[in-house]
Amino acid sequence: MTDFDRNYSMTIDGKSVSAKGQIDVINPATGEVFAQAPDCSREQLDDAVASARLAFKAWKLRPIEERADLLAKAGDVILQHSAELARLFTKEQGRPTEGAAAEIMMSGQWLKMVSQMRPPVHISEDSDAQFIETRYVPLGVVCAIAPWNFPVNLAIWKVAPALLAGNTMVLKPSPFTPLCTLKIGELLQDILPPGVLNVISGGDELGPWMTSHPGFAKISFTGSTETGKKVMESAARDLKALTLELGGNDAAIVLPDVDVDEVAQKIFFGAFANTSQICVATKRLYVHESVYDALRDRLVAIAKATKVGDGSEQGTVLGPIQNKRQFDRVMNLLDDARANNLTLIEGADIPDTKGYFVPVTIVDNPPEGSRVVQEEAFGPVLPMLKFSDIDDVIDRANDSEYGLAGAVWSKNTDEAMKIARKMETGTVWINQNLNLRPDTPFGGHKASGFGVENGMEGLLEFMAPQAVYVAKH
Ligand code: NAD
Repeated sequence: MTDFDRNYSMTIDGKSVSAKGQIDVINPATGEVFAQAPDCSREQLDDAVASARLAFKAWKLRPIEERADLLAKAGDVILQHSAELARLFTKEQGRPTEGAAAEIMMSGQWLKMVSQMRPPVHISEDSDAQFIETRYVPLGVVCAIAPWNFPVNLAIWKVAPALLAGNTMVLKPSPFTPLCTLKIGELLQDILPPGVLNVISGGDELGPWMTSHPGFAKISFTGSTETGKKVMESAARDLKALTLELGGNDAAIVLPDVDVDEVAQKIFFGAFANTSQICVATKRLYVHESVYDALRDRLVAIAKATKVGDGSEQGTVLGPIQNKRQFDRVMNLLDDARANNLTLIEGADIPDTKGYFVPVTIVDNPPEGSRVVQEEAFGPVLPMLKFSDIDDVIDRANDSEYGLAGAVWSKNTDEAMKIARKMETGTVWINQNLNLRPDTPFGGHKASGFGVENGMEGLLEFMAPQAVYVAKH
């Protein structure tokens, strides 16, 4: 249990379970396999679902205070093991140690904060004739599927509300980043009753097996829009409830009144933190022509001074791209930009290793229709675009299949608020970015998603209303 460097097991029915097959886990900073994770069989998936279905019967009837208490304890256990988990996180995900530790700590705290939420009860009538209330009840077994960019946080965003609500779960991390999630499953075996939280890992076929499994009541999925469409199709077959947190191509609009020196650092990390592998990273930066050159030069200076490298080395700020598939996608976008003679400005040098490193790259005022503007890069390539007319730039920002988040930068908050209202996104930040909280709903509009996570709205996505009518005679 305490060995964080070897022996990664699935958690099924409260026990550590290995598999016949294994999947390789690669350290993206070296490109080398450093561990293996179990490759869940179809029979083991059936076992996990059966265990979760059985556990649901008792878990849903436990008072919510007891479930909350166990989830808060689960948060404490994650916090107690944060140092080992963070080291493992850097190896499998690539993010430098400080950011890795921040994700683990945030996940433990998230469990504790969400455990304090309570679903509402609405009373529509309480008269001599009758009493009518609407309360919220859990759905059953939740199929939870997470991506590799924030593998632990985004899994906990599902675990905390789903289990608090009285559901049980089978959770699958991405095959690229299974290890921390598997370890957390093992650590929580001592806290949660068997079957309440099953954690399984496997290759590309495991996700489709899960979404088509008839034992699930709900699918909570975070990943790409392309995969989200397949998940929705699969869920439709037996009408599973669905939450989809998908891709984004977020625009930030910088108005002429900003203090460039003051905003540059924040804008830089809003675009490049986690090597830009953030669904809500700034992916298109629209800058008023009067401050464009000054901001571009400032961002380039920060990029030149920001160390890119192996996340386990001191001083590294940005790590590699997490996996080869994503690395190839980003390289392909850069090749396309070069083929079209776009101006690329690179930041600090990258290590000369087999790791999946890409230099921080600013694309200087490319045409609106270029691929680097239109597609989600999910890598450190930021198109900066000039604008002169505010209505025109709002149209350009909204002219996207996605609608996840956006940002407005201005000293005039009233003006920024007016622009925020016109943005077709689930979240808008003004003079900040990347700020998300457990008590505030988060979700995408358009092709960025379906349903929300977090906030009371997110909790209620794991519940169904039940109206109760009582005649008084
Ligand atoms: P992905 O869609 O390739 O994979 C996500 C998960 O789905 C993985 O666990 C994968 O194994 C699984 N999967 C793959 N094919 C499946 C299928 N047919 N059926 C069921 N499951 C399947 O996404 P990714 O590359 O891991 O993540 C990057 C994408 O996720 C980006 O587009 C990013 O914007 C998006 N994302 C969105 C949010 C959000 O909250 N909106 C958060 C993080 C990432």
